[in-house]
Amino acid sequence: MADLPLSDRSSDIELTPLGRLGPLPEHVERVLATLEAAGQEAALVGGSVRDLVLGHAPADWDVATAALPERVADLFPGSTWQNRFGTVTVNDPAGTVEVTTYRAEGGYRDRRRPDEIEFGASLKQDLLRRDFTINAMAWVPTDLAARRGRLVDPHGGAADLAAGVLRAVGDPEARFEEDALRLVRAVRFATRFDLRLDPSTEDAIRRHVGDAAQLSGERIHDELLRILAGAAPPSRALELMERLGLLAVLLPELAGLRGVPQAKALPGDALDHSLRTADALSAADPVLRMAGLLHDLGKANTLEGGHFIGHERDGAALAETVMRRLRSPRAEVTRVTRLVRQHMFDYRPTWTDAAVRRFVKRVGRDLVDDLFALRQADSAASGAAEQELGGLPDLRARVAAVLASDPLDAGQLAVDGHDLTDALSIEPGPQVGQLLDRLLDAVIDDPSLNRRERLLDLARGWLAELASGDRTHRQAEGNQEAPS
Ligand code: ATP
Ligand code: MG
Repeated sequence: MADLPLSDRSSDIELTPLGRLGPLPEHVERVLATLEAAGQEAALVGGSVRDLVLGHAPADWDVATAALPERVADLFPGSTWQNRFGTVTVNDPAGTVEVTTYRAEGGYRDRRRPDEIEFGASLKQDLLRRDFTINAMAWVPTDLAARRGRLVDPHGGAADLAAGVLRAVGDPEARFEEDALRLVRAVRFATRFDLRLDPSTEDAIRRHVGDAAQLSGERIHDELLRILAGAAPPSRALELMERLGLLAVLLPELAGLRGVPQAKALPGDALDHSLRTADALSAADPVLRMAGLLHDLGKANTLEGGHFIGHERDGAALAETVMRRLRSPRAEVTRVTRLVRQHMFDYRPTWTDAAVRRFVKRVGRDLVDDLFALRQADSAASGAAEQELGGLPDLRARVAAVLASDPLDAGQLAVDGHDLTDALSIEPGPQVGQLLDRLLDAVIDDPSLNRRERLLDLARGWLAELASGDRTHRQAEGNQEAPS
């Protein structure tokens, strides 16, 4: 480890005082020790070093090494190797560690992915390709057992952290030209660590916001979800995105809520309200926060005479457009659009139990808790007082009661599809599903109907009605076709 390409900003530093966190996790130490024993230079890099400098526990540990990916894969049996980017994932029972070969990247012509990756670079070159100074530090062990090492910080990341500044590595213009995702990452890191943007970094972002339109939906989606999963209120990141002009490029539907008036106890427009709703939901469920963010999209086009008529329907369609553009997984798209579609339910204590059961069926039992959480956040974001929660606690209790005792989906009926085909001599097919659905509606109205014979009788009756309807229909057609 004698000829490390250290800069004058590197300094000897012990890990424990550096991170004030006690020992390095054993599996991370094992990876560093194995590489060292094989004579391969290796360092902790990126987010884990930044977090240690801040005194936070890193969520994941990234190691960079001079060793080529083949060599790393050989050293760690059972590791998986993602060829293109030279990242080997070491699967230790205690946790995974990503080991990436030092690289210097070429241009990003499409602003999505590097055109070429050049291995065989030095640690210093590897740090040079990173996005922000705070993410471009490394910790190189000099005595692993004693946890002594050097902080390699050629771009002054530690000083920027101390001063509360987010700064691009090197020429900011070039950094954002290489990869437009860094525009969004800048917002994420600035708000997560409460940093202000260095002025020339901010200027470069403003000049390049338009490039974000060329980003792939998946990459935007992943960054947005990381923002929504963060401990900082998402409104901070989204307001910063708006100020920089990034929101109008990435989420124009949301940006369009600016200036749409609201008649709420809390001041502000429909965008302020949407951001407050997302803030009021838990960071542990970023997709639900996404639903909060998008729940009022329909308000941009439905204001009429002081009311937003049917905005939940328009909003669900707009939310679906946004989620699809972000290439969100199907389950996320349906969850968010269903929640937006249902968010305007209007509970009254006069609802019968059957009405409560119909509500659960309409919303879906898998989504009622989410919908209540969304309503609570929506109310909090409107400044509604506790007693104005529209009887939500009451509805919640009644839903719990019907869920515990009453049949609410076809699986809970006293008959299934086989019973219908056997007892009624009909063919399996869509008709069976339709009958089951109709039986469920009947049972939701009156749970005492949920007995096998009673349900088969009902179904028999409907089939007979259908058959006589068919006959009348055919007769009518026959009459028309008869020559006159
Ligand atoms: P987190 O704690 O949120 O995971 P992180 O810093 O580890 O933060 P990652 O996205 O996991 O962020 O990336 C790991 C490191 O890789 C970063 O610290 C940065 O050095 C580098 N990096 C990641 N994405 C980019 C990018 N688009 N451009 C330049 N460097 C990047
Ligand atoms: Mg990370």
